[in-house]
Amino acid sequence: MFFFGKKKKEEIPTIYTVETCQNCGQVNRRIFEANDYIYKKTSTCNKCSGIVMITAIYGEYPPEKQKKKQKNLITE
Ligand SMILES: [Zn+2]
Repeated sequence: MFFFGKKKKEEIPTIYTVETCQNCGQVNRRIFEANDYIYKKTSTCNKCSGIVMITAIYGEYPPEKQKKKQKNLITE
């Protein structure tokens, strides 16, 4: 299911799991845990007690690994 592939870079992204309440749509992002998979029902919503389902799993590089792309928006 995952195709990270070992290329030249050794940087390993942090894997996140996105959970969405199927009733009210509340989205929660957390660190990926073993056995997480898309459409898995993980819990019940703390707002409406609806079914919370994993809707996305993705990798993201830590901020310090990313290049600083601060735009110079300061204008006087
Ligand atoms: Zn909900």
